[in-house]
Amino acid sequence: AQAGDYRILHEADLRDYLAGIPDLKALLGGEPAAWSITEVGDGNLNLVFIVKGARGGVAVKQALPYVRLVGESWPLPLSRAHYEYLALSKQAQLAPGLVPALLHHNETLALTVMELLEPHIIMRRGLVAAAHYPRFVDDITTFMARTLFFTSDLALTAAEKKEAIAAFAGNHALCKITEDLIFTDPYRIAEQNRWTAPYLDGLAAALRDDMELHVAISRLKLKFMASPEALLHGDLHTGSIMVTVSETRVIDPEFAFYGPMGFDVGAVLANLLMAYFASAGHESVPGERRAFEAWVLETVEQVWGGFTGKFLDLWRSQASGDAYPASLFAGERGAMRLEAERQAYMQRLFTDTVGFAAAKTIRRIFGLAHNIDFELIEDPKRRAVSEARAVRLARGLMVEAAAFRTIADVTGAARKLR
Ligand code: ADP
Ligand code: MG
Ligand code: MG
Ligand code: MG
Repeated sequence: AQAGDYRILHEADLRDYLAGIPDLKALLGGEPAAWSITEVGDGNLNLVFIVKGARGGVAVKQALPYVRLVGESWPLPLSRAHYEYLALSKQAQLAPGLVPALLHHNETLALTVMELLEPHIIMRRGLVAAAHYPRFVDDITTFMARTLFFTSDLALTAAEKKEAIAAFAGNHALCKITEDLIFTDPYRIAEQNRWTAPYLDGLAAALRDDMELHVAISRLKLKFMASPEALLHGDLHTGSIMVTVSETRVIDPEFAFYGPMGFDVGAVLANLLMAYFASAGHESVPGERRAFEAWVLETVEQVWGGFTGKFLDLWRSQASGDAYPASLFAGERGAMRLEAERQAYMQRLFTDTVGFAAAKTIRRIFGLAHNIDFELIEDPKRRAVSEARAVRLARGLMVEAAAFRTIADVTGAARKLR
């Protein structure tokens, strides 16, 4: 098959395509003509169809040669479907049960068929509705600790690690989106920026004039570009997580590449913190969501704590990589020194995480892609109040990242701003 064989599969083509794959035809069951096919993509980039037959269902994701949100004027390589498939395969191996099962992939069509997640919903929607997810902390910390640890120099040999970096290096167009939309545009005049005007006009202008912030975001951008620590999901917000009260699944790793671990961890924390700040705007009676908000901040604390605990346990028990050679840390003295170094490593990772969390927050309020946590607050004045609180925290986190030593420092600052 050649690149020229790519075509967008609309409903009728998709039905024929799936009917032509015996395993999928059997899984769906019944007459293909009776299958229901619905396009459900609510993301910014791709088409996603839900297909249901007499027996079962599947989700089908196809990349478009352009950015769905913007249109054909913004081309984007189809190869992102290849990287998504590669990342999903790796995550399935490292974090079994925490990603949708892969059923079929067609490189030429940039198309992947996967397990239909049902009745899972996008976590962000659940958070807007003040739902609690008791499985979330344990599942997301397992996902992050295992995918980040086992793709790092702590677990891989130097040769394995460099081969793995190379396998994802071609996904640079997706990285560039992040480099522009997260690390650059919100801090300058850019056509695609938007914010809750006129209430946040002053804050938007202040960001464009804030040299300390420009230095901080540029350091984070450099870290994102130049620190291939581990295989990142690359877009790990609450819109890339599907949940029920008893299950968690991470989807949509098309931004995967080797980058700094704090970018993924910071994405999760930022999106929880935004759910927290947005919460007041969703109240019909003041204070009615206090229990939810307390749960969100506890979740922020437990995500960092749980991630750290699991990551350190893996390092203590399964360090097979070329970093920190055991021969340099022999005996009781070596063991003690190495353990102190592990704590120092996590402290540096925490500082990165806090900075990336701040970057992820600011882009959702002043950049191109906003989130429903804030957007569904109808009254712009109330929305702006929530957004301004999030920005205040984010600016502090970014400019004074090192002043936040523990996760309780972060949640404490968030609590004070409510
Ligand atoms: P994009 O890359 O365009 O953001 P996503 O992979 O995030 O696409 O999918 C878009 C939407 O499709 C999700 O928000 C979710 O509602 C739905 N979706 C994606 N994968 C599945 C799945 N395996 N099962 C059910 N729904 C899914
Ligand atoms: Mg998505
Ligand atoms: Mg997206
Ligand atoms: Mg996506």
